[in-house]
Amino acid sequence: MAKQIHESLTELVGNTPLVRLHGYEKKLGLKAHLLAKVEYFNPIGSIKDRIVLRIIEDAEREGKIKPGETTLIEYTSGNTGIAVSAIGAMKGYKVQIYLQEGVSQERLQVMKAFGAKVQKISEVPEIQDALKATNNDFVAATNILKQHIRDRQAAGESIYFVDQMINPKNPEAHHDTTGVEIWEQTDGDLAAVVSAVGTGGTIRGISDYIKAQNPAVKVIAVQPAVDAAKLTGIHNFTDVPVERVPVSIKGREGVYDEILTATVNPAFEAARIVAKTDGVLVGNSSGAALWGATEIAKRPEYAGKNIVVVFPDTGLRYLSTDLFKE
Ligand code: PMP
Repeated sequence: MAKQIHESLTELVGNTPLVRLHGYEKKLGLKAHLLAKVEYFNPIGSIKDRIVLRIIEDAEREGKIKPGETTLIEYTSGNTGIAVSAIGAMKGYKVQIYLQEGVSQERLQVMKAFGAKVQKISEVPEIQDALKATNNDFVAATNILKQHIRDRQAAGESIYFVDQMINPKNPEAHHDTTGVEIWEQTDGDLAAVVSAVGTGGTIRGISDYIKAQNPAVKVIAVQPAVDAAKLTGIHNFTDVPVERVPVSIKGREGVYDEILTATVNPAFEAARIVAKTDGVLVGNSSGAALWGATEIAKRPEYAGKNIVVVFPDTGLRYLSTDLFKE
């Protein structure tokens, strides 16, 4: 018998399963086939393992960071911070995470468990001042944070800002892994891919790869309604000023064919149903994506066709929220 020993959990990033949601299709009477890309099978539990591994390993190859010397910094609502904390720990980096308000308690605890220094942005004095002065302007706060990081770098600290919002390795990682896997797992037999949008990395990467194989495959983006703050990790990007549109989406209108806008209750409801019908426990952005995929699946032209829906993370990261409180 051959040995099967992994040298590190980093070897297990990606290659997640694609699972047909038979129970959900049956319960809703859908004629299309819903295939879920279940990203909580990544070793640290979310789709963000892919981009973080890519960003860190490329920065190492380019000589930008060194274990034991460099502090990895990220500004995040959760999953990316968890992945940076864990993969940073595996590779011997110090990690500092700045968190937005409203992030669930268990996420903060998980990052700390991996040894990261975690700070709510409201607790950083410079950012607090900027938020007050700009009436809670997220972009202004990010810019202040960047200045704060540049000041520390100028003072000689070895710091690397992961910056998933603008780092081109984010969509690249999805192009090279998530997109390829979806294509190969369906053997090219798919009519649409549905994904919720946060930084836009997932949809951009998948779209670039899949459309290069077959431009007829539809790519559907699901964004939260402007007032759906409970749909965390994803952002509305059509109704906001262009400077707030994720960079990986900006100027790339061709990456998606259609945008659906999810509200809280239908997104939560979809996540609650699929847990009961298929034993797949996912977070609220997966619920939003599943709601969107269901809307597509109801259209007669999709009968008998494969629709892939991306599930970014596990419902276990939302137990302190309203998602499964009933
Ligand atoms: N769902 C969750 C739970 C997330 O954390 C994120 C990333 N913020 C997304 C979806 C969106 O993925 P992307 O950033 O690749 O658009």
